[in-house]
Amino acid sequence: EGRETRLRVVLRVRPLTCTETRRGDQQVVHSLGDGAVHVSAARHDATFGFSAVFDSGASQEAVFEGSGMRQLVELAIDGFSCTVFAFGQTGSGKTYTLMGPLAQSQTQPASPALLGLMQRSFTYLLEQSRSCGADLALSASYLEIYNEQVRDLLSPGPPCALPLRWSKTRGFYVENQLSVEFESLEAIVSLLLQEMQSIPPPAGSQRRRTSAHALNRHSSRSHALLTIHIRGRAVSAHPAPGEGWGAQGSARGSCPSKQGTLCFVDLAGSERVKETGSSGELSVEANSINRSLLALGHCISLLAKPRGKRTHIPYRDSKLTRLLARSLGGSGITLMVACISPSSRCVSETLSTLHYASRARRVTTRP
Ligand code: ADP
Ligand code: MG
Repeated sequence: EGRETRLRVVLRVRPLTCTETRRGDQQVVHSLGDGAVHVSAARHDATFGFSAVFDSGASQEAVFEGSGMRQLVELAIDGFSCTVFAFGQTGSGKTYTLMGPLAQSQTQPASPALLGLMQRSFTYLLEQSRSCGADLALSASYLEIYNEQVRDLLSPGPPCALPLRWSKTRGFYVENQLSVEFESLEAIVSLLLQEMQSIPPPAGSQRRRTSAHALNRHSSRSHALLTIHIRGRAVSAHPAPGEGWGAQGSARGSCPSKQGTLCFVDLAGSERVKETGSSGELSVEANSINRSLLALGHCISLLAKPRGKRTHIPYRDSKLTRLLARSLGGSGITLMVACISPSSRCVSETLSTLHYASRARRVTTRP
């Protein structure tokens, strides 16, 4: 607490897809063990180091256990602001890592072994909430940043933009965002899918297609942020001495409670940064994704300098950097999962993700 802590950056390399294998793509990314990864292609040959590298054989469970996600959940319960963000080009496995392959069908739920960091974190959080006597109140909010507008994915009806404000005590925050209490895994998972049902579905199968489409849109056209708010309920029945529980002795037996957050960020595909030549709606989208990812990259570069040499950090350059200000440079604890494809066709995007992620390793916060 109060000490400088580095961002934890882990890398996930997904397996070659069937399409990639069929057309004869080469595997150009190789894990060397001990957090090192090597990229070898015609004119590119480079080695990078991370806190952990998960190669194509790594299971979803291995990623949960090896990434530090479990500790992040514990820290959030302890009252810290924790963030995990997935970064990488479209198709690199961000959504798979966060949620598993759940987009296909709601009638055939994904096998438990394939569930992603989010479901595993929810399960662990709910377990902790039930077992250790810590009476936790859990609620969730779900936002997307689309075309530089912050939208509430939980509010019914057509999406409307919410104002993003700043206050001395709260930092940047979104005004009027909905937050919904939940007490079970089913409830929080259905909350995640709820947004897709806001468009009145004509029929069952149609609804599914809409769902798949909406998830898809998240992955490439907008940044999605799911935040779990964890509040220690004021309990007077089981005071835990030494932790401030019930120590103030107010009339109602209430006590100062911890308030932590756990935020999952699925960033828009990084390759959008180049797509500025496209026209109309796409170009507007690409431009705003450009702007926010470039702003994020810029903030990360500046934050990566030693504290003494830091200049002003331009968080205000985009909505995304404002919302991530605390996670990146403030009092948050942050895990970045960089996702890459091993294919020879993706090598330039892969290298850019690796450079970005390496820079992020030097960023520190003061939790
Ligand atoms: P992104 O969200 O970065 O655009 P996705 O998570 O949608 O990418 O992944 C693209 C495709 O690759 C999907 O079909 C997904 O199921 C598959 N995939 C991604 N990561 C893995 C993995 N580790 N193991 C198996 N399949 C994966
Ligand atoms: Mg995605």
